[in-house]
Parts: sequence; C-alpha cells; structure tokens
Amino acid sequence: MLDSYDIYLYLCCKPQKQATPGNTSDSSYGFHLPAQSFQYSNTMPTIIYPSPIFGPVKSRRLGISLGINLLPPDGKICTFDCLYCECGFNAEKRTTTPLPSRKEVSTALENKLIEMSREGQLPDVLTFAGNGEPTIHPQFGEIIDDTIILRNKYCPGAKVSVLTNATLITREKVFNALSKVDNNILKLDTVDTDYIMSVDRPTGSYDLASIVERMKAFNGTAVIQTMFMKGSVNGRNVDNTGDKYVIPWLEIIREIAPREVMIYTIDRETPHAGLQKATKEELDRIVSLLHSSGIKASASY
Ligand code: SF4
Repeated sequence: MLDSYDIYLYLCCKPQKQATPGNTSDSSYGFHLPAQSFQYSNTMPTIIYPSPIFGPVKSRRLGISLGINLLPPDGKICTFDCLYCECGFNAEKRTTTPLPSRKEVSTALENKLIEMSREGQLPDVLTFAGNGEPTIHPQFGEIIDDTIILRNKYCPGAKVSVLTNATLITREKVFNALSKVDNNILKLDTVDTDYIMSVDRPTGSYDLASIVERMKAFNGTAVIQTMFMKGSVNGRNVDNTGDKYVIPWLEIIREIAPREVMIYTIDRETPHAGLQKATKEELDRIVSLLHSSGIKASASY
C-alpha cells in the first residue's frame, strides 16, 4: 500500500542542489532514479521522467515501485500549473511529442514486468505519475484496465496507484477508471478558489463544487493529498497552514470522508523561489485536527 512517505517520494523526489545529470542516487532516501529523468533549466532543478515506464524506484518503506508515465518523455502536460510543480512550469516544458499509445504503454509495462520477473524483483506497487496529469490521456480508462490485467498476471500482490490532481474526475470515464484502482489519490490543496487560481493555477475551467461532489461519490475509498506551504509570490501570501484555509478545508474533508488524508510540504527548491516549507509543528497540528475528526491522516515533512 502506498503511504504518505511514498507519495512524498513521487511528488518531491529530486536531485540534491549540487547534483549533476547522471548522478542517479539520493542516499538520503535510499532510492535511485534513472539518469535520464533529470533535466535542468537555468533557474531551478526540475524532474522530467522517462515514458511510458520509469523506475523501478526502490524505497526503504515502499519496497519496489514501478512508475507509469502517460505523458511524453520530453515535456510536461497538466491541467494545473502549480507554483510548486517539480516538473517545472507548463510554459517551460512544452512538448509536441504525442502521448504514448495504449499499446505502447501495455507493451512497455509487460516487457518491464517480464524483465523484473526474470530478475526475481517484482514491484510492490504500480504508480501512475510522471510528467503531468495522467487522467488527461484519452485512453486512461482502457490503460487502467490493461494495467490491472498485467498486474494480476505478473504481480498479483502489487497495488495500482494513481496520483491525480482530480481536475478531470467529473468525467464519467475518468471517475470509473479511478474507482477500479487500489489507491486513488486526489489532490485538494485548499477549498479557497482564489488560492487555487493563484497557486494550483488550473489551465482550463475549474469548478470546485463539482469536483468535491465527485470526491464524495467515491464513497470513502479515495485518498486526499494536500500540499501545505508558506511564502509569498508576487506579493501574495501563499501560506495555507493557518485556520483561514485549514478550517474550511477540514469541513469539506469531513464531507468527502476519504479513506485517508496525506499532507506534505515542499522540499528545497521549487519552480518559484518565494515558496517555503510548512514546519513540522504546523503539519502536526493539521494532522491532529484530522484525527480529532476521526479521519486517518499522516504528514510527510
Ligand atoms: S498537478 Fe502535479 S504535475 Fe500538475 S502542475 Fe501540479 S504538481 Fe505539477
């Protein structure tokens, strides 16, 4: 089962400040990323993952995790453009490369699982993540079906997880596909629309009320992931750790009644230099509030 630390690895793993392309290890986390996953801009380190399969990522707590990236290998495509996105800003990572086809994904995944099977190192989790929003793929539902079939064939003990910003869960096909996976992990950074527009920055229309309604419709099976941070951007305070943001968010979380809430914060450099980590004390306070409401919750610092 993917836990909050593993979410942290997928969302926040990146090279050290001094890292250079080709330096693939990060001993502080005990895992290794493929060298080609690192690309650098002049302003900040960012991560662009291979596609359609990357890893496996070896984590002390997770075990062996295989990444599935439904976006191109040379850029980022997302329905958000988060100020903290470690793939970089959308405008800086444009790509005209087509998305991998359903067939390319299933063939690459099956080949990788056969290879891992031969090596006696099957994955513990298959995680949809990578260079943007996975549900943007027009055949996301079919690819989930293929992945479950391959999981059942080669590694029946492994979980299938999807990290999504939840912008497309109002689409029936996306909702139905997410209902089939073991860990359906939905982003909800705040319920303040102005904050979402300023920090998560949807690239299209965004209707928070409709998205929350669909989150409720998962009937307690979904996991909510929330980024808490501080700092300012262009003179705007982006601290969402105080009661102004936490209390309304908590009320909506209670209504959604998720299986679990995972909160985390930024780590080291972000695309926008004005962002800062939330402190351990701030995150612990939010976890306590969730626990007081009877909601399972954990924090990654
Ligand atoms: S939703 Fe995820 S991939 Fe998309 S911009 Fe935000 S952090 Fe980046």
